[in-house]
Amino acid sequence: MIHDDDHNKLNEFLAEVNKRLGSKLEMDLPRIVVIGVQSAGKSSVLNRVIGFIIFPQASGTTTTCPIILRVFKIPESEEEGIELDNFPDAGRISDNDEVMAKIANFMEKNGGKLVDTPIGVRVYSRTLLPFTVIDMPGITKLAEGLSEDDLIKLSLKYITEKNTKILAVTPANDDISNSVAIQLAQKVDPEGKRTLVVLTKIDMMEKGTNALDLLSGKLPSLKQKLEIVGLVNRSQADIKKGVTLALQLQNEQEFLKEHYTDLAEQNGIGYLQKRLNKLLMPHLVNWLPDQLIQWKEKLQLCIDRLAKHPQELPLNQELDFLYKIVRRFEDGMKTEIQGCTQHPELHYLYGG
Ligand code: GDP
Ligand code: MG
Repeated sequence: MIHDDDHNKLNEFLAEVNKRLGSKLEMDLPRIVVIGVQSAGKSSVLNRVIGFIIFPQASGTTTTCPIILRVFKIPESEEEGIELDNFPDAGRISDNDEVMAKIANFMEKNGGKLVDTPIGVRVYSRTLLPFTVIDMPGITKLAEGLSEDDLIKLSLKYITEKNTKILAVTPANDDISNSVAIQLAQKVDPEGKRTLVVLTKIDMMEKGTNALDLLSGKLPSLKQKLEIVGLVNRSQADIKKGVTLALQLQNEQEFLKEHYTDLAEQNGIGYLQKRLNKLLMPHLVNWLPDQLIQWKEKLQLCIDRLAKHPQELPLNQELDFLYKIVRRFEDGMKTEIQGCTQHPELHYLYGG
């Protein structure tokens, strides 16, 4: 007979193991974080990078707290959709507009005050690989809640971790040599190995000026070479008109071909997605097998401990059960790795 008490003990123990593995997994997943001043176009860039509109973007609704979006890969049989940590009762939502409205609504509850508590968004996808994307409140002097210094510290906190790819978003109608985004990125990534500069609003530059020098890699005042990708995101008027991401891609291409004919291929959202996919892919290949070994070792440690302390595990039957978990876990991970490397339709980003 297995006692209920023993069952509870074992369940608690397994929940703890899961929790630890879960937090380790999250720390190690590749992440993309956008930083920059308020209204630089950060949320616009992220929506286009992931290929669906989730992050509120508008001159009115600015991002008032970090929004952490995690992608989870699910099996074919499971329903795709998005869950919001702050709306647990809403369940898995399939309408992106509803998700964005809920996020905007939640942020508006603070009356536009900036806070550092993040909003959690979980995307369950059959085709995307697990990774994390984080939208940040912009750096500004003029907000309620967090001061400019607080906002800088907050951005730094999210970009310091080495698995983070930084999108330093800088509007083309500002002076790039004053770009806060680039300055912050350089603090944590002095060699620029995990930073891409995203030059937004290249359609809004003053008449007679253009971004040709910048997009050709001629950056004034920068210590090392940083790759710059120019984008034309949807303007406020485009958003009002209901311009879709697909249409914006066409508009952007037309703009680039007209104004930057020779550089059209190395700019625009498609190119940015390709660059990001390239930056993220080695992560997968290096990371998953390594994780498999580490997790297996950890589980083995737990099993050894249970074997040594029979009071924590009363029955051999239960030990067998744990061994089975390890084996199933190992098989699952192997399939996952093979699946990821053998199926080109699996990727981090849609467009890449
Ligand atoms: P954030 O505060 O950095 O997240 O900026 P948002 O993404 O919310 O964008 C702020 C405003 O700038 C919105 O009204 C966008 O429509 C507009 N915007 C962003 N990028 C571009 C761009 O490349 N071109 C134009 N014309 N407008 C843009
Ligand atoms: Mg924003």
